[in-house]
Amino acid sequence: MATTCTRCEGSGFLNLFQIPDEEMSKFNRSADFHKDILGWIEKHNDHDVQVCDCCGNGETWHGLPGEHYNNEDPPGPNGPYAYNGGLCLCH
Ligand SMILES: [Zn+2]
Repeated sequence: MATTCTRCEGSGFLNLFQIPDEEMSKFNRSADFHKDILGWIEKHNDHDVQVCDCCGNGETWHGLPGEHYNNEDPPGPNGPYAYNGGLCLCH
């Protein structure tokens, strides 16, 4: 069971507010939300929108975008959050 990542509020991205409302509302209605945002990131340079560095690593996600694997923090040294002592950044 997954928990919503609080750092990106489940969106899987950071700084989404920097995407203009007009484009964002288009993305929000899209079934390919994450793919569309990644495309937007590639096409634009003057922003800090990126894949979340808590449920992801800044470029891709550890599991599902905006979600952690389960209710427990992933196990320490071998988990994806080993660099943070095994804890999700948002916990
Ligand atoms: Zn996240």
